Amino acid sequence: MKEEIGLSDSTMLSVEELTYAFDGKKSIFHSLSIDVRPGEFVSVIGPSGSGKSTLFKLITGLLEPDHGEIQIMGERTEQRLGKVGYMPQKDLLIPWKTVLENVVLPLEVRKESKHQKLAEIREWLSRFGLADYEKAYPHELSGGMRQRAAFLRTIMTGKDLLLLDEPFGALDSLTKRNMHSWLLGLWGELQKTVLFITHDLEEAILLSDRIYLLKDEGVHEMRVNLPRPRSSELIYQPEFMAMRKELEWLIHHES
Ligand code: ADP
Ligand code: MG
Repeated sequence: MKEEIGLSDSTMLSVEELTYAFDGKKSIFHSLSIDVRPGEFVSVIGPSGSGKSTLFKLITGLLEPDHGEIQIMGERTEQRLGKVGYMPQKDLLIPWKTVLENVVLPLEVRKESKHQKLAEIREWLSRFGLADYEKAYPHELSGGMRQRAAFLRTIMTGKDLLLLDEPFGALDSLTKRNMHSWLLGLWGELQKTVLFITHDLEEAILLSDRIYLLKDEGVHEMRVNLPRPRSSELIYQPEFMAMRKELEWLIHHES
């Protein structure tokens, strides 16, 4: 649907022939290339230690590649820090700040007035199921709520490209299921581009337009041809199960 906007030819993110190794270690990526188009939801999957979080740190500019190029919105920027909204793997809500105070942090960093935007922010809190919790502290929230608050804070960066590193990874399966339904419902109106790390195959298929599987220093791509809007019931459909099988086959067989 978002391709109708006419942005489909452009690239939101382009990673070309990326090579990276931590000092003195075996390389994690060798000539890895991925791209993400505006409005896409793309997942990166791979076993623990395959380099998913490192890839995100390279994209955000926290790390610099040994070789290769990373472009954000067509810009060959050396200075990538601050160009994308990044939600790190660990929930980093500040424990002594309330939900509202945590969520408005990106506005404070940009020195924008949060008072002007308060009505808009409250609307977002309500969409994120946090309307009654703006004055609550992180420890008073459930796991799902904490992840939603951290996600909302990432959206408040105002960036078009969001990198989410295993946002639902620490949640129990029932809470995770609820988060999927919620996110699928929200996705149509979000108008964002998402690169999403997970090690949960079902989650990757359910949420994504495309999936990149990190393996053996390289990457495999899989397109998810399931219509949107989607519901979490989709996981019981034969097309879904076939895709899951294909992905499992890729993980275990192809190199
Ligand atoms: P994933 O997110 O897929 O679990 P990571 O990107 O965190 O994987 O890690 C990839 C590999 O790089 C692992 O072998 C990990 O031990 C190693 N690694 C991660 N961070 C560092 C670091 N700061 N210094 C050295 N090695 C690291
Ligand atoms: Mg990780």
